[in-house]
Amino acid sequence: MPDKTFLSWPFFDDRHRALAQAIEEWTTANLPVDNKDVAAVCRALVQKLGRDGFLKHTAPDPDAPSPLDVRALCLIRETLARHDGLADFAFAMQGLGAGPISLFGNAAQRRLLERTRAGEAIAAFALTEQKSGSDVANIALSARRDRDAYILDGEKTWISNGGSADFYVVFARTGEAPGAKGLSAFIVPANVAGFSIAEHLEVIAPHPLARLRFDGVRVPASALIGAPGDGFKIAMATLDIFRATVGAAALGFARRALDETIARTKTRELFGGPLADLQMVQAHIADMAVDVDAAALLVYRAAWAKGNGAARVTREAAMAKLFATERAQNVIDKAVQLHGGDGVRRGHIVERLYREIRALRIYEGASEVQKVVIARQTLAGA
Ligand SMILES: Cc1cc2nc3c(=O)[nH]c(=O)nc-3n(C[C@H](O)[C@H](O)[C@H](O)COP(=O)(O)OP(=O)(O)OC[C@H]3O[C@@H](n4cnc5c(N)ncnc54)[C@H](O)[C@@H]3O)c2cc1C
Repeated sequence: MPDKTFLSWPFFDDRHRALAQAIEEWTTANLPVDNKDVAAVCRALVQKLGRDGFLKHTAPDPDAPSPLDVRALCLIRETLARHDGLADFAFAMQGLGAGPISLFGNAAQRRLLERTRAGEAIAAFALTEQKSGSDVANIALSARRDRDAYILDGEKTWISNGGSADFYVVFARTGEAPGAKGLSAFIVPANVAGFSIAEHLEVIAPHPLARLRFDGVRVPASALIGAPGDGFKIAMATLDIFRATVGAAALGFARRALDETIARTKTRELFGGPLADLQMVQAHIADMAVDVDAAALLVYRAAWAKGNGAARVTREAAMAKLFATERAQNVIDKAVQLHGGDGVRRGHIVERLYREIRALRIYEGASEVQKVVIARQTLAGA
């Protein structure tokens, strides 16, 4: 039985506690999923999550826009991740992919959110390129103005939902200024001429991922989100919100690893008694429990701060992502260790968690990038 005492922390309102219970019941009824065909499974998960009302938390209602509730996003991600990494992925990408529209889209663009919230359209966030992963300001994919349109040429890579998405928010160089100030964001439908999937990418914890090609892709000027040159600001503000939720997913993986380890060490008999009676094992379990609670405090502190009107939570979100992902890796490694041979057996839950957690320390800003952000913010505030 997972620890739910954190729900009584002052970060949450009653509606969050009700949501936590609802998503827990949903996961029990619908997860885990057979993830042989990840693209098909993700589409089905998005449809189900939309049908059952959970995707409404990933984007504002176009008719009554209100800010995204980061606590709700984090609670849902934590719970889904505890049960199934692919379900967390399907949910999270609806939020991240639609994020720039949720935050900066005009009324017409926001109509698209009706479809992402209902699970009828899959969203993707296309920022990374071969030469601009951590170095976002180095984006080369170009968007050239041509009368009432823009023409996009170049490539994006490592794009989640690549090949599955119905539309991509693409960050491109429009050249208003050098570096970060010369980027803009566009909504690009997947069925537009000149757009193609150059390569499907396989990773240690499978999910839909691709390299995208743009050959003279023409989109109307109305596809531009915000103003020309706003692209970097839009990307960073979106990541500000969703970085804390990456921490929440890591927390879900860590909690599951701790739960599995408690169950295992209490029942595994060794040297005449349960493994859990050995003090060196207890030391591991204590470290894991502290990491889980400390990660939860940082994740829900960032989420609460955003929910309480902070314009930006850059420092808090970076701390939450850095700590929760790094410590989850540690918690899961200890879980594998305490499971012995079973821990590395293909298909075992802790083996799966060991693969699932790894990419979270790299995407949406690698751990080193989070440290740079935290240090800059801390020094600036001193
Ligand atoms: C599973 C997965 C899903 C992804 N999904 C998406 C997506 O949906 N959309 C999208 O746009 N991108 C996505 N990405 C891309 C991801 O955001 C990039 O991989 C990430 O930003 C790192 O960029 P890079 O791979 O080019 O590594 P690089 O930028 O080459 O960095 C390599 C390593 O260098 C180190 N490093 C980087 N900067 C610094 C620094 N300032 N100081 C010290 N060390 C540093 C870090 O250890 C880093 O991991 C995804 C990646 C993965 C693995």
